[in-house]
Amino acid sequence: MKKPRVLIVEDESSIAELIAVNLRHNGFEPIWSEDGASAQREIDAALPDLVLLDWMLPGQSGLALARQWRKDPRTKSMPIVMLTARGDEPDKVSGLDAGADDYITKPFSTQEMLARLRAVLRRRAPETVTERVEVGELVLDNATHRVTWQGTPLKVGPTEFKLLGYLMQHAERVHSRSQLLDKVWGDHVYIEERTVDVHVKRLRESLGTAAAMVETVRGAGYRLTSQVTV
Ligand code: CA
Repeated sequence: MKKPRVLIVEDESSIAELIAVNLRHNGFEPIWSEDGASAQREIDAALPDLVLLDWMLPGQSGLALARQWRKDPRTKSMPIVMLTARGDEPDKVSGLDAGADDYITKPFSTQEMLARLRAVLRRRAPETVTERVEVGELVLDNATHRVTWQGTPLKVGPTEFKLLGYLMQHAERVHSRSQLLDKVWGDHVYIEERTVDVHVKRLRESLGTAAAMVETVRGAGYRLTSQVTV
């Protein structure tokens, strides 16, 4: 199994280092940012599986960062655990209001931190792939890895199969290229958004007469829809 990547956003290097060592020893892959700007760069490059976000940071506070990430469609559902030195209730509540999934009050034990991170990751586990999805007369079967259109099997490459599966499970919704990279390709550090276009083109070729079901939404991305005449 892939190690969960945890982005630690913490300006105090001694604390960040201690957390990173503990995470590494317990099967996580930690990365460290000292402030909001460098955290944003890490996130732009690749979405982490979880962000451990300190409340008190130079420049933008952890709270402001959490709010900002919750507003951005790309980071909207990125798990965030706040680190706070303040133990009082109102602060915790505003942390959760800002969109944090949980909070840990400093000082904390390694065991407590790991338990909380694992709990958040479990809750945010990627949706399990449905065995069989149908949209109109298009059917995708994950068990047999087959796609049929009006009962006729279609030849679909492995990446196009994943892409189609995702689009079918979220039919009628528009997905940006960046969202598709996150959901279909996962970690996309070295993948350009144009790659999505290439695979959409191949997918349409594989779909033949059903190609029109994959719509380009100008300026927004792609959508799979049954609301077309094919
Ligand atoms: Ca701090």
